[in-house]
Amino acid sequence: MATFELEVVTPDKTVVKSEVQMVVCPGTEGEFGVLPHHVSLLSALKIGPLRYTNAAGETAVVFVSGGFVDMNNNICSVLAESAEHAADIDKARAMAAKERAEQRIASKSDAIDETRAEAALQRALMRLHISEYVA
Ligand code: ATP
Repeated sequence: MATFELEVVTPDKTVVKSEVQMVVCPGTEGEFGVLPHHVSLLSALKIGPLRYTNAAGETAVVFVSGGFVDMNNNICSVLAESAEHAADIDKARAMAAKERAEQRIASKSDAIDETRAEAALQRALMRLHISEYVA
């Protein structure tokens, strides 16, 4: 089975560095799949699950909170604002972040705070959703 290299990095860590058979990314225009020898591509990512199948045929799910994916010369590089494997998501932390964001939205402060709170809420809800994959 043909494979290619997947790297998922954030400003503070490398979350994935693996030979993979396939990656499915949460693109801003919708989910898309990347297979070996995919044509070069550069795409923006939204908050969502990134799924991959490694060389042994095992699947994994990683939370990503936006960023970019670049596929070039059979190397798929994901630069994410933050990312965690489903099993590494701290559910209590995500629940606390959800409650903080909901309180900020309910308090109807200025527009910038509301936009940031909406994004924090989306991250928290997606983390809680993805953590169910390993429940
Ligand atoms: P919080 O308010 O809990 O920090 P956040 O959505 O603002 O949540 P991010 O800015 O996306 O957090 O991420 C900051 C760092 O904390 C990253 O390294 C990210 O991987 C990690 N992180 C955030 N939330 C969680 C979580 N629920 N479980 C595990 N790691 C998390």
